[in-house]
Amino acid sequence: MEPYEIIRNLRTEKGLSRKEVAEKVGVTAQTVYRWENGMSFPNDASLKRLSDLFGVSVDTICGSAPDLICQCCGMPLEDSVISREPDGGLNEDYCKWCYADGKFTYSSMEQLIDFCSEHLATESWPAEQIRAHMEATLPRLGHWKKS
Ligand SMILES: [Zn+2]
Repeated sequence: MEPYEIIRNLRTEKGLSRKEVAEKVGVTAQTVYRWENGMSFPNDASLKRLSDLFGVSVDTICGSAPDLICQCCGMPLEDSVISREPDGGLNEDYCKWCYADGKFTYSSMEQLIDFCSEHLATESWPAEQIRAHMEATLPRLGHWKKS
């Protein structure tokens, strides 16, 4: 799908008029009309506002497959699990389980690993394997590199 079709689809899915989208994004209805007909493309600031408004990543609007992972736990970030800032904006760095209301759920890597190895363990993926996998991959993620 082309980005202009995606924008139109997302808008109709949300039941919004062009005027409503225009008001929320801070452009004119004419501009939204141009986006939806492939005559122009939203700039970065507008893309970010569209992403917040529609609750999908900027990548989704641009038509590129999202290739985001949570920078805290490493899970793939599909649109439905992307975290939000307290003001409602999307935070594409984290999943909603690791980050919510401006706060991180886990204060240390050990805490996260303990939680996951306890709660995600199955017969085919025992706790020790989860622990080993996480201990190997988490230190490469942005959140843990910072701290
Ligand atoms: Zn996460």
